[in-house]
Amino acid sequence: MPQTVVMKFGGTSVGTTERINAVANRVSEHIRSTGDRVVVVVSAMSGETDRLIELGKQAGGCGNKSREYHQLVTAGEHASIALTAMALESKGQPAQSLLANQVPIRTHEIYGLNLISDIDVEKLNALLDEGIVPVVAGFQGVGEDGSFTTLGRGGSDTTAVALAASLGSCPCFILTDIDGVYTALPSICRGAKKLKKLTYEEMLELASSGAKVLQARSVSFAHKHRVPLWVASSFSDDEGTEILEEYEGMEDAVVSGITCRVDEAKFTLRNLPDKPGIAAKLFKALGDAEVVVDMIVQSQGAGGNAAISFTVPQEDTSAAEGALKNLLLELPEASVEVDTDIAKLSVVGEGMRTHAGVASRMFEVLGSEGINVEMITTSEIKISVAIQAKYSELAVRVLHEAFIQSSS
Ligand code: ADP
Ligand code: ASP
Ligand code: MG
Repeated sequence: MPQTVVMKFGGTSVGTTERINAVANRVSEHIRSTGDRVVVVVSAMSGETDRLIELGKQAGGCGNKSREYHQLVTAGEHASIALTAMALESKGQPAQSLLANQVPIRTHEIYGLNLISDIDVEKLNALLDEGIVPVVAGFQGVGEDGSFTTLGRGGSDTTAVALAASLGSCPCFILTDIDGVYTALPSICRGAKKLKKLTYEEMLELASSGAKVLQARSVSFAHKHRVPLWVASSFSDDEGTEILEEYEGMEDAVVSGITCRVDEAKFTLRNLPDKPGIAAKLFKALGDAEVVVDMIVQSQGAGGNAAISFTVPQEDTSAAEGALKNLLLELPEASVEVDTDIAKLSVVGEGMRTHAGVASRMFEVLGSEGINVEMITTSEIKISVAIQAKYSELAVRVLHEAFIQSSS
């Protein structure tokens, strides 16, 4: 039964004109064999967004929240949609490229983040009705003043899921350079296995703690709108990973995946007065500076003083330092230390809801390798720890061995 589907191809999958031709063959073949109405979303050719960001810096660019930053970095997708539409046309498949303002995909800004407020699907449906494949630019939105906005790095995934949600929560295929979501990054963990299914919640925890195979925002969007989501290879027809609400046996494996990210910085404030209101002041200052805090630990120091450690994205280190300045002037006894050599290591699994002892096993395994746990946070289905960055790959491997390889 023909259906509407969204197929998203990432940077590597459209990295050369040869690859773009392969994408065009795949899409036309799919339409010929199924009769599906296909909306294509593409990212910029691999490396292009980084190149544009670097050019912006060389031109004296004024940070990643400026209007000109967005105008500049959305240019990569401008080229790749036109090339993809040309390649489809050359295979005899009518296609039309669409920038965000031509769909339109409207966004509004909250705390420096551009969130999708509304997508008009009238134009997309009109093209589909005529047998024309819309090729939509990923990553782009159009702001309230009509300028281009961006959905954050890796944001084409969110474009694809948001289009699928607006087209009646139709299936969305994220086609990339790997054939699915793995239990750990295969390049650092040789025993990593492809997962057949994952729940939205597991995928969200994995994506937000380092599995960049999907942008975390795309997973929350898919969950909220119940978009059937797959991650699969753009190079082969192998069955990928299906991401869904629930599946049989989802709690059988205690741990589904292990991730690591090394892009956070840890701040430690010592000698803080241990009295009400200090933490509120500290985190308000960070919030006002639009710095998003991830892990937080407060501990009792000597002489009635407290110490608070927290992590922020490394790129926000100077913004966080700036935000703390006034607070530190008010508290002359307090001191601050910043460590950028840290890694956040996470184990994720629906099975944690029903199995006890995961934390103790995790600490035991890390301890036996001499890896010190500096901070800990948990959710119902995730345990994250901060460790020294130099141990990150070793830590992923030993935890994978302990939780995943030894249980299969
Ligand atoms: P695209 O350009 O198609 O958007 P990305 O580079 O954003 O592709 O995402 C795919 C990459 O995600 C893979 O090549 C892999 O290196 C990385 N990745 C990180 N963690 C995982 C994981 N757990 N499973 C699969 N891929 C992962
Ligand atoms: N081209 C954008 C980036 O490199 C968006 C994407 O690839 O999803 O972040
Ligand atoms: Mg990506």
